[in-house]
Amino acid sequence: MNALFDHWRLEIPGSRIPELSIVIPLYNEYEVIPMMHERLTGVLASLGVSYELLLVDDGSCDGTPGLMSQLAEEDPAVAAVFLSRNFGKEAALTAGIEHAAGSAVIIMDADLQDPPELIPQMFQAWKGGADVVCMRRRSRAGEGWLKRCSAYLFYRVLNAVSDVDIPADTGDFRLLSRKAVEALKKLNERNRYMKGLFAWIGMPTVVIEYDRMPRAAGVTKWDYLGLFNLAFQGVTSFSTAPLRLAMAGGLLTAFFGVIFTAWIVVKTLVLGEAVQGYPSLVSMMAILGGVQLLSIGLLGEYMGKTYYEAKQRPVYLVREVVGRGRRPTHAAG
Ligand code: UDP
Ligand code: MG
Repeated sequence: MNALFDHWRLEIPGSRIPELSIVIPLYNEYEVIPMMHERLTGVLASLGVSYELLLVDDGSCDGTPGLMSQLAEEDPAVAAVFLSRNFGKEAALTAGIEHAAGSAVIIMDADLQDPPELIPQMFQAWKGGADVVCMRRRSRAGEGWLKRCSAYLFYRVLNAVSDVDIPADTGDFRLLSRKAVEALKKLNERNRYMKGLFAWIGMPTVVIEYDRMPRAAGVTKWDYLGLFNLAFQGVTSFSTAPLRLAMAGGLLTAFFGVIFTAWIVVKTLVLGEAVQGYPSLVSMMAILGGVQLLSIGLLGEYMGKTYYEAKQRPVYLVREVVGRGRRPTHAAG
């Protein structure tokens, strides 16, 4: 898959490779785009490095694509990648990372929940030798207690069961060096749980803490079902612990089954209490049936994952790229 996208980088003569690429996935973010562009441009201009703003439209159905094209026309630092439909944030991020040309790539949300003002700090950490600069949320303003609690729990559980150490309370907001980006591009699995993939590559990492802002405008694109799906993806993509749990459950049930059977034999032979226990029979069947179906479902989930991997479909499809070739600009700083 990588060879497919390499030409984006090759198109740009060596001397014109920007120092920083800011990758932003957008899905129906019409309201927030002007504000985002203004704040980012301000910060990047004062930093005085060459940069590109790589906006990835994830199949938006509001005015986002139009506004993005307009920005790419007006601002030579902006490049816009349009996906052919809504592929989800993880795919949009993948598209952004694969199209980014910069020596370092910063990934952030469009809604300004990740403050652009932190970019200079991230840039310094990268200059200081870090390949990954991970932003950890000290607080999450503007998010309800249920989301906070579930996020807290999720990161703890994921870490406990997964094979790689996925730092708690970090989102997708981070900086990746070119080395890290190239490493990431080698992971061409279809099920893309980005936080896990980021953690999987390892590399010297610096963690910076920040306060997460409320959304600047618009509404969140996640509902609880979406978040639950993402969480489930995260766990099943990076761990087979659920399978082991199912096995442990089976073992435990079988163990108690044997004890229970022995008890029935004793009751029948020694105490002479034969043929009874309709309620226990029914409840045992219900419990066992439930556990079995759950385990089969779990098995199916992993098999389904393998099925999707086996198809080798691309993670996303690009409809159009606007603003390539006229970048990058050098900030007047
Ligand atoms: N996003 C996307 N595709 C989607 C859903 C979201 O590209 O299918 C983008 C969205 O435009 C935003 C980022 O992912 O830039 C984070 O989304 P959101 O702010 O809705 O999530 P939250 O911050 O509430 O977790
Ligand atoms: Mg957000």
